[in-house]
Amino acid sequence: MKRPTIGFIGLGIMGKPMAKNILKAGYALVAYDISDRAVEDLAACGAAKAQSPREVSCKSEVVITMLPDSPDVEKAVLGKDGVLEGIKPGSVFIDMSSIAPSVSKKIAAELEKKGAAMLDAPVSGGETGAINGELSIMAGGEKEVFDKYLEVLRAMGKNIVRVGDLGAGNVAKFANQIIGAIILEAIAEAFVLAKKAGVPPDILYDAIKDGVAGSRMLDLKIPMIKTRNFKPGFKIKLHQKDLKNALLMASELNIPLPVTALVQQIMGALVNKNKGDWDNLAILTFIEELGGEEI
Ligand code: NAD
Repeated sequence: MKRPTIGFIGLGIMGKPMAKNILKAGYALVAYDISDRAVEDLAACGAAKAQSPREVSCKSEVVITMLPDSPDVEKAVLGKDGVLEGIKPGSVFIDMSSIAPSVSKKIAAELEKKGAAMLDAPVSGGETGAINGELSIMAGGEKEVFDKYLEVLRAMGKNIVRVGDLGAGNVAKFANQIIGAIILEAIAEAFVLAKKAGVPPDILYDAIKDGVAGSRMLDLKIPMIKTRNFKPGFKIKLHQKDLKNALLMASELNIPLPVTALVQQIMGALVNKNKGDWDNLAILTFIEELGGEEI
């Protein structure tokens, strides 16, 4: 297959390094973000600049989005000057944002009318995984489409799994986010308790890291805990958004998720306290305030 030109929309914490890895893999890339600075940064690495999502889809055969939430993806694709206006028959739209599966399906139906296919392919692995091209990618969509564009996904990820039909990628991502959120909340409770009882965080980490309570989340967050670094990483407002979308789907399926709901409420409270742009480790500050103990 001739190497397609890739269009990339959404050059934030994740999108920027992912787009850079596509360039490094040798693809031509057309970039767009509402932030001119983000586009200039990519242009300095060799990308062509676009003025709208429509221009991106006009100039590429594969269009990727890495945007915050469902309304952002909907606007970029179905809105004025959106991807839909410029997309060519035979091309593919790959949404790598974490959004509601119902929105993916709505977008796919519109793209189909133009002869274009879609995959939902959200990711896990954080900023470090994005920079190193080692993201876990959980994809939904037709197998033929997935197989055809696997090589493009390989420029950004390592463990790449087709989970099922369109929307299934984001179902897997919900599972990932529920597990991550609850582990993070447990870490916050455990470390605040231990500190108040006289065991400092670095010693606690050394003691438990190789036992059953050890985790990738703990390994990732411990340097940030030690230095009280709340710079994102993964913004807590985005984690809250994922849990909100997961709870909406759970409610439609009549599956109670009591602990997810509680953690979503805590994250929502932190967003209200102007900590939405902090790393999701901000949950630690919530437990610290409850206990009157800073670690
Ligand atoms: P971010 O806020 O850092 O970046 C979002 C980017 O989208 C920004 O550059 C913003 O200017 C741009 N944008 C917003 N609306 C736009 C529009 N209509 N058109 C063009 N550009 C627009 O967010 P992020 O951390 O990169 O996350 C992106 C997605 O990836 C989210 O769905 C998030 O949940 C998911 N995700 C994030 C992480 C992480 O660790 N940060 C990990 C896995 C998945």
